[in-house]
Amino acid sequence: MSEAPSSGTPYPYDAPASQALFDRAAAVTPGGVNSPVRAFRAVGGTPRFMVSGTGPYLTDADGREYVDLVCSWGPMILGHSQPDVIAAVRDAVSRGTSFGTPGEGEVALAEEMTDRIAPLEQVRLVSSGTEATMSAIRLARGFTRRTKVIKFAGCYHGHVDSLLAAAGSGVATFALPDTPGVTGAQAGDTIVLPYNDLESVHEAFHRHPGEIACVITEASPGNMGVVPPLPGFNQGLKDACHKNGALFISDEVMTGFRTSRAGWYGVDGVEPDLMTFGKVMGGGFPAAAFGGRADVMAHLAPAGPVYQAGTLSGNPIATAAGLAQLRLLDQAAYDKVDAVSQTVQTLVTEALTKEGVAHRLQNASNMFSVFFTDREVRNYEDAKRQESFRFTAFFHSMLAQGVYLPPSSFESWFVSTAHDEQAVQRIADALPAAARAAAEATAA
Ligand SMILES: *Cc1c(COP(=O)(O)O)cnc(C)c1O
Repeated sequence: MSEAPSSGTPYPYDAPASQALFDRAAAVTPGGVNSPVRAFRAVGGTPRFMVSGTGPYLTDADGREYVDLVCSWGPMILGHSQPDVIAAVRDAVSRGTSFGTPGEGEVALAEEMTDRIAPLEQVRLVSSGTEATMSAIRLARGFTRRTKVIKFAGCYHGHVDSLLAAAGSGVATFALPDTPGVTGAQAGDTIVLPYNDLESVHEAFHRHPGEIACVITEASPGNMGVVPPLPGFNQGLKDACHKNGALFISDEVMTGFRTSRAGWYGVDGVEPDLMTFGKVMGGGFPAAAFGGRADVMAHLAPAGPVYQAGTLSGNPIATAAGLAQLRLLDQAAYDKVDAVSQTVQTLVTEALTKEGVAHRLQNASNMFSVFFTDREVRNYEDAKRQESFRFTAFFHSMLAQGVYLPPSSFESWFVSTAHDEQAVQRIADALPAAARAAAEATAA
């Protein structure tokens, strides 16, 4: 069964087919979903079971259509069922689905990626962003022969054991596991620091000379809402790493090939030692990657001693979809996504301002999110101070009017090249009532 939202905000239970599927799902899958955020626990109500997607629209099991502002959490940057991507997938499928051997598709995808991103000299393909960050950390440890890892509170790098530690936002707090099942030993080599705070990074290096293998950061965080790096932050991280013999890992799983042709690297130009990718590069299929400096990547098996492998790595369908998508993502496509993003951001701000709702729109190129607070959000502590109960009311009003937002106030919104005037108009039409609902919402 679904849970009521914590705010007690009323929302319409008008999704009987989704509810029936959710009940069936709950019998065979914990919580009825295969990834927790999909269960709507942060906002309450019935998660919508989607049956199809075309362009900027999703259709649920009850036959209702939504303008999609999640885009599968980023990958669908060309919209759903993009004809050229679908054609590439059909073509690949017609030749078989997996060979367990090398194939040309994975070479072509790696070439496309390395062509776009100068510091990406070599890549290794994997199947999820989690695998990418897990493998990059292993490689960094193997390369430096050091154990400790610095990460930032509020940055998500997939469900890697050692990175599921964001607890303790104090400076140089040693991480306690965020979840049962991660041992103290697994989290104990992780140092969690507040985001956008270079001083704490310098202190951590000072306190642990010769022990820190790497700093991993989201290139521009989108997993605590959108909280871009302050000017000089990424460069400062890189400099601190290099001064202390550590590697700088930029996690571009969300930003990669989304925030520009060359991801966040294309925006701030800071050259990482290692980078991780997923989401957009798979074109809606499970394809991800890590890569970077050739001398570091040379330590990876079979070229070097650090083991890493995958039965479905470089899968021909996934690489065909990813390659087709990347080839369509020229500058005109990014200009389009940026313009749509700007338009939607302006509409949201206008609607909330009109209703007198304190809020902040934050963006990193075309990624953006709304925080229900009047203060700038620079880190996870700031993000947690927002009035999330207002988002709950806002979310359900938008949903009822056929606009599908991320079901949490700690997530980025995503748009695509397929969000045309008609789709944007539907968002514009839904916003006034949603802003009113946010204004009228009260904390539980
Ligand atoms: C989504 C995400 C991941 C994890 O990717 P999965 O494919 O879900 O395992 C890692 N890092 C960042 C920054 C992400 O946004």
